[in-house]
Amino acid sequence: MPDPLLRVERVDAFYGDFQALFGVSLAVGAGQVVAVIGANGAGKSTLLKCIAGLMHPRAGAIAFDGGDITTTPAFNVVKRGIALVPEGRRLFPSLTVEENLLIGGESRRLGPWTLARVYALFPALAERRHVAATALSGGQQQMAAIGRALMANPKLLLCDEISLGLAPIVVRDIYARLPEIVGEGLSVIIVEQDIVQALRAADHVYCLQEGRVALDSAAAGLTRETIAAAYFGV
Ligand code: ATP
Repeated sequence: MPDPLLRVERVDAFYGDFQALFGVSLAVGAGQVVAVIGANGAGKSTLLKCIAGLMHPRAGAIAFDGGDITTTPAFNVVKRGIALVPEGRRLFPSLTVEENLLIGGESRRLGPWTLARVYALFPALAERRHVAATALSGGQQQMAAIGRALMANPKLLLCDEISLGLAPIVVRDIYARLPEIVGEGLSVIIVEQDIVQALRAADHVYCLQEGRVALDSAAAGLTRETIAAAYFGV
């Protein structure tokens, strides 16, 4: 891909002596939706943490929007235009929905995402803007976590396990908003264990297996057999 928005190149990442990523490479183009799939412990969250600046690779490089961010700290990565929707939502429980959204906008860049725009995307949040984040349903909490990330006006949105713990109908409802988000010019990386959902939403798919890229392919035309082989190593 010539000049992608994000290029991860041969990244190795460690927790102490334990190596979680081995030479992982990935590219995301402007306006592209990329899915990263893989079993528990395959390294998906670690890859997102490296991109978001929450941990730094021991080897390899990460370039974003024309600059090197391999060792850029997380608060500066957000300013550069990458926002993370973390696994488990991590909303501030003592704050209202609206306060959580406003915190996401603290270091906001110029762009289309405002409180009004987030409420238009997720009307359920508008109705509950003044209630505590903990009073929301799981699906609404996920919407608030996505809204909080959008408030930073990122160029690249990283979504870690959006589906986790949510009913299928709620997951479908949240994924139905993805085209509107991408329509605003964003690129998205979705980390998913729900492979069907990931394939439906993505242009391109990477599968990690024990910290290595086992599949790097356009989503269209991927067969169950190819995915199973990459996922389980069979
Ligand atoms: P999951 O779907 O369970 O979140 P994942 O694909 O996101 O899995 P990671 O969370 O990136 O996988 O974990 C990759 C490997 O790194 C696993 O073997 C995991 O046990 C290990 N690991 C993750 N976080 C830590 C940590 N803080 N300290 C030590 N090892 C860790």
